[in-house]
Amino acid sequence: MTTSFADERLHEAMARIRRFLDHDQPDTPCLVIDLPTVRDRFAAIRSALPRVGIFYAVKANPTPDVVGLLAAEGSSFDVASPAEIDLCLERGAAPEAISYSNPIKKARDIAYAFSRGVRLFVSDSEQDVRTLAEHAPGASVLLRILVNSKGSTYPFGKKFGCSPEMATDLLRLAAELGLVPLGVAFHAGSQQLDPNGWDGAIADAAEIIGKLRAEGLSPTTVNLGGGLPAGYLTQPPPLAEYAAAITASIARHFGALSGGFAPEVMIEPGRAVVAESGVIRSEVVLVSRKSYSDERRWVFLDIGRYGGLAETEGEAIAYPLVTSRDGVLLPGGQVGPVVLAGPTCDADDVLYQNTCYELPLDLRAGDHVDLLGAGAYTASYSSVAFNGFPPLATHCVR
Ligand SMILES: *Cc1c(COP(=O)(O)O)cnc(C)c1O
Repeated sequence: MTTSFADERLHEAMARIRRFLDHDQPDTPCLVIDLPTVRDRFAAIRSALPRVGIFYAVKANPTPDVVGLLAAEGSSFDVASPAEIDLCLERGAAPEAISYSNPIKKARDIAYAFSRGVRLFVSDSEQDVRTLAEHAPGASVLLRILVNSKGSTYPFGKKFGCSPEMATDLLRLAAELGLVPLGVAFHAGSQQLDPNGWDGAIADAAEIIGKLRAEGLSPTTVNLGGGLPAGYLTQPPPLAEYAAAITASIARHFGALSGGFAPEVMIEPGRAVVAESGVIRSEVVLVSRKSYSDERRWVFLDIGRYGGLAETEGEAIAYPLVTSRDGVLLPGGQVGPVVLAGPTCDADDVLYQNTCYELPLDLRAGDHVDLLGAGAYTASYSSVAFNGFPPLATHCVR
């Protein structure tokens, strides 16, 4: 069997993380981010989509060192709040490299962003377009459309975006109000497992942009949002398939416009940049059984749904697990089925009861369970002090 370049890189990353954990013995639970992996993933996306502007979605992992590294690598940023704007600017991003992509924003937050030099906003409503015109005069605006996010593990549903017809009208309105009607944005759903999952929305974007250009406006840009996937227990198709599908879809739909037109393209990856860089180290608090006849043990970890594992809701994301007993199994390497749960007194704080996890039969309190691929949507989701448990600490290795 040959090991791929990527496997080898991940192997080195795991070795760096293990060295840190063995040497520093940080309190658990904690998240360890391997910064070279973040750099690698960003470089892989950039080389797969060379003519696309990459705006890292800060919410996936707002660790200042991650944001600083990406700014130094030339990434732009998708932010959702004044605090995320401040973070990016403090860590070296230029205001022109920031897109305020949250359609739900207060007038004073728009004014703040504008005062800090942000000039690119995403909107999906008449109220927000009017507020932008008032508090961010002359700024560029992308209108977000509703999409069918079939194929996504985390569809965005109907909360964001408006119909293509309304988006077209709102871009006209933006122009009337002195804003720059830059183009169309969407989000095809997070952890999008279908490389063609962007196609329908790209078709809608091309139609809107074509229509407005025919009227004499000059929208230029399509923002593909997030959705690029990461590997968990199951592996998604390779990045190259996504790049090929997206590139072909843009060429087909925009090429079909009268006169043909090559748009400016933005993408806002979050998960795909940081997920594979992170390992959460947790500790087993309790192993128990619910009855003498029940074969499945319950394994309670010191991290759960409220400590950063929010994406286990519905067992949507299934992290690969490695325990400190994996190398030292009982004779015959005996493992057995478990239910995994968190440490809080909330009945919903159960991680996996349907996903089949088998852990060593001799697993006991004090052992470590490492969750792999945990760099995205973990620390940023952890609660401040539910039941008195502190938020998930993040450490970076370089
Ligand atoms: C969360 C978010 C992203 C990132 O999504 P991923 O699936 O993590 O890539 C991108 N754009 C917007 C507007 C978002 O809200």
